[in-house]
Amino acid sequence: MLAASLSPSVSSPAGAAAPFDSDAPPIIPVDMHPPVDLAEDLEHFLAQLHAYLKQEDIDQIEAAYHFSANAHRGQFRSSGDPYISHPLAVAETLAHWRLDPQALTAALLHDVMEDTNITKAQIAQDFGKVTAELVDGVSKLDRLEHQSYEEAQAENFRKMLLAMAQDVRVILIKLADRLHNMRTLDAVRPDKRRRVSRETLEIYAPIANRLGLNTLYRELQELSFRNTNPLRYRVLAKAVRSARGNRREGVGKVLEAVVARLPACQIKAEVMGREKHLYSIYRKMRDKRLSFSQVLDIYGFRIIVADVPSCYLALGALHGLFKPLPGKFKDYIAIPKVNGYQSLHTTLIGPYGMPVELQIRTREMHHVAESGVASHWLYKDEDTLNELQRTTHQWLQSLIDLQTATPDSAEFLEHVKVDLFPGEVYVFTPAGKILSLRRGATAVDFAYAVHTDIGNRCIACKINHEHMPLRTELRNGDRVEIVTAPNAAPNPNWLGFVKSGKARAQIRHFLKTRQNGESAALGEHLLSQALHNLGHRLEELGSSAWHRFLRTFSGKTQKEVLTDIGLGKRLPAIVARRLLDGRASGGSVAQSAGAIRIAGSQGMAMQLARCCRPIPGDPIVGIIKAGQGLIVHTHDCPNLRIGKAGRGPGGGKEWIDVEWDAAAAGPFEVLIMVVAQNAPGVLGRLASAIAEHEVNITDVRMDNDSGATTSLYFTLQVGGRMHLARILKSVRRLPAVTRISRLKEDHTQRN
Ligand code: MN
Repeated sequence: MLAASLSPSVSSPAGAAAPFDSDAPPIIPVDMHPPVDLAEDLEHFLAQLHAYLKQEDIDQIEAAYHFSANAHRGQFRSSGDPYISHPLAVAETLAHWRLDPQALTAALLHDVMEDTNITKAQIAQDFGKVTAELVDGVSKLDRLEHQSYEEAQAENFRKMLLAMAQDVRVILIKLADRLHNMRTLDAVRPDKRRRVSRETLEIYAPIANRLGLNTLYRELQELSFRNTNPLRYRVLAKAVRSARGNRREGVGKVLEAVVARLPACQIKAEVMGREKHLYSIYRKMRDKRLSFSQVLDIYGFRIIVADVPSCYLALGALHGLFKPLPGKFKDYIAIPKVNGYQSLHTTLIGPYGMPVELQIRTREMHHVAESGVASHWLYKDEDTLNELQRTTHQWLQSLIDLQTATPDSAEFLEHVKVDLFPGEVYVFTPAGKILSLRRGATAVDFAYAVHTDIGNRCIACKINHEHMPLRTELRNGDRVEIVTAPNAAPNPNWLGFVKSGKARAQIRHFLKTRQNGESAALGEHLLSQALHNLGHRLEELGSSAWHRFLRTFSGKTQKEVLTDIGLGKRLPAIVARRLLDGRASGGSVAQSAGAIRIAGSQGMAMQLARCCRPIPGDPIVGIIKAGQGLIVHTHDCPNLRIGKAGRGPGGGKEWIDVEWDAAAAGPFEVLIMVVAQNAPGVLGRLASAIAEHEVNITDVRMDNDSGATTSLYFTLQVGGRMHLARILKSVRRLPAVTRISRLKEDHTQRN
């Protein structure tokens, strides 16, 4: 347990002293090795046994201790301690879980078959057949051959799970064994330290978690983190220590209020302070890319009450005390976790806006939360098996069945991963194949996981048959279908949301090689297609058209412009129009150009819809139209609404996830309507107010509404929404203007 208990029924000024000073924080001191005192350790161990075992059992366990000490005589651990200190520590952990005498005996003897010349038969003779089987089971796990790392991991897992299916106690001994080895890892070589830690994180911690051995699970993670990332561990430990100082006052106030409130509502409760483990803080920072100061909820309280109704009563009382953070409440009592864990979780907003996490549970739930399947070990007959043990037993039985069906280790592992790694999501391909991805993975990660080519060419996705943005986070059981286009290419913006290393690496790789020439060819192809749409051919453009285009616009070479098109930095349709305009008039007018980049559009012919005329800053959506490529509309385009119902531009077409590039530069055409009082010179005043913002007015039309007012329709070239907002604001200030608005649908347009 991490924290001292504070009982609200005690009439001390509870909360006045912050609970965190006196607590053992989850920070493991660097020097963990006080020299062992065997006599004292043995005495302590035996004292624990007296709490729940009969004297004759204790005598047998003590005999096993002396047997083992004798067998290991002359052997020492890397730390220099006598070897017997290790089995003793393992047995003590099991005693803490209240395991039976056979398991404790086996724990004391768990290394004798491996490290001394004692045989299984000898153990069976002296300590019984069951104990001998347990020792044998643990020894077999120690003897795993290592091939490649992945192969070894898969095989390790399979053996562990099967051993566990035969008798869970084998795994409990093995886990206690690993815990002690991890606690004493300082004494071994750094390379071995890292290997053992990684193995602990990948195999032992997930198993502990699946069995509900929560305290063990956390400690294994913490120790592994400390040994694999010693520097980060130290830095984080230091940050937590100083944050604790800074936030003490706020936490103390919350604690004080909580401790006072519960008895006032007739709820008897025990309140404990708890701190998040460094590993979970680290993981949160890494996965959500947060800095330490952004990880606020490093404090919490655990509230233990008498029964289930009190859990909900306490929850209500505390929600009345401080505001809960929306979306943080979880009812694991109604819906327990797969490992049997039950609690109510909520996060309150304390003083200074500091979030404080609360866990509310009964005493029994607390036991299960701490030691999972090992809790209630004493009730071994079927009738008193609790729900957790029953479901665990079922799960283990299913492993044995699975083993018969799939003798291949890797395949076997795939099947059991679903419950062992809650940090992953499992999704389906349209063919029903299951893929595991990191939690938080998006449709783009999925596309790359299926095949690099699918990733590189994906333009849209369907999740459970519905069109969704490519950046959508996937959930367990989602059926994901990727829409590809032959000329599509990865978008640099994807790097902002993909989670998998593979997707990231492939996108980078593609963009890099793309720069080197392939893109120019693609750009030429796209430009030719765009010209074709306008009724022209690339070949018919003379060098003078190119010459004029290059001189008046970009200052780049023809090859560079084509490369830009291929990379999606320039829209082929716009370059095409400018080339044609340039041929006719010297290139002074054109509707829009520049570096427009729209996520998801790379490599496709693309146009901005003429109905709603999107400008940067507008939420947009793309629709593929045969012969025209990708048409980009605003989300609220009136034509699109019709389309959604099955007619219009969107009907039966593919919806594409698109977004503006941060670097998208105009000008972009936009239509605004101004209603002004009829007065001489009003058009001139409007035009000059607009022109002050360095805007081209490409078209003006007027409608005489009545005698008193005129509606004017301006087509403007703007840089984006901000630019437009400034224009609208200054036009609105003119005294003659009664109304001004942007039009998303052009009623006046004749074509
Ligand atoms: Mn051992």
